[in-house]
Amino acid sequence: MFDLKMLGTAAGGGIPQWNCSCNLCDLCRKHPQIVQPRLQLQATVSTDGQKWSLLNASPDLRFQIEANPELQPSAVHGRRNTPIQSIVLTSADLDQVLGLLLLREFQPLTVYATALVRKTLEANSFFRMLHRVPNQLTWIEIAPEESFALGSPEIVCTPIPLPGSLPFYARELDNGEEGQASLGLLLEADGVRVAYTPSVPEITDDLRSLYASCNVILVDGTFWSDAELSRTHSGTPLARAIGHVPLSGDDGTIALLADLDFPRKVFVHMNNTNPVLDPRSREYKTAIDAGWEIGYDGWQLNQRP
Ligand SMILES: [Zn+2]
Repeated sequence: MFDLKMLGTAAGGGIPQWNCSCNLCDLCRKHPQIVQPRLQLQATVSTDGQKWSLLNASPDLRFQIEANPELQPSAVHGRRNTPIQSIVLTSADLDQVLGLLLLREFQPLTVYATALVRKTLEANSFFRMLHRVPNQLTWIEIAPEESFALGSPEIVCTPIPLPGSLPFYARELDNGEEGQASLGLLLEADGVRVAYTPSVPEITDDLRSLYASCNVILVDGTFWSDAELSRTHSGTPLARAIGHVPLSGDDGTIALLADLDFPRKVFVHMNNTNPVLDPRSREYKTAIDAGWEIGYDGWQLNQRP
């Protein structure tokens, strides 16, 4: 049966973040029973519960594997093995690819990525660690709107092109080709359609109709308001300027997707400044009353809380 598990649900830095003493990070350190700690964004999918594919590879991946037995090797299969078959990369952002370097111990793996994302990683000398022996890494090129079979038994995976460019440290590699730098994913198996879009710079009509056709949508929950980051840490940009539609406001995600009452709606990728992380907050109640779930580490498609 098709399953998707969230191994991390926070934005870059996680919560608490190492250098942050905002109200929420502080509460999370002192009262983790109130504001639950969250690792950096990471998801995994499977159709048989035995073999898994990772959606991106977070810097917290080692902790995420050790916290989730289904991703751990089994002595039944010998000394060196892993249930992780493949990794789909949706961008070249450091927070989505750094975990690849943790998977380098000569273990054969398949990585699905656009030509641009692959080129960006291969331009970095650290990632040569992944090519120390022949067949260590098999790259499979994917393209926007071209479905491919992920894993076996297969999940039909369709990359959804999203507006966005390469991270600033790699911008000179951008070839101007649309829809290569940042993808969402439509995942389909066993009659279930899931949209995985943890980074949404704009809710277009196309995206809304895609969401409306899904059973479950996992959506960018980075910021509650446009100015939230700049209010907490002066000199930082607005949410929309860094590619995230905020949740609140007439033009925010909750309002724009208010009429989607059929799909199960889940926010993921919350920044540690987002007040929805405190279940006692007005903002949390607003999101829940609007039919949303706030994703948490361990959230699983096939297990209702
Ligand atoms: Zn913080």
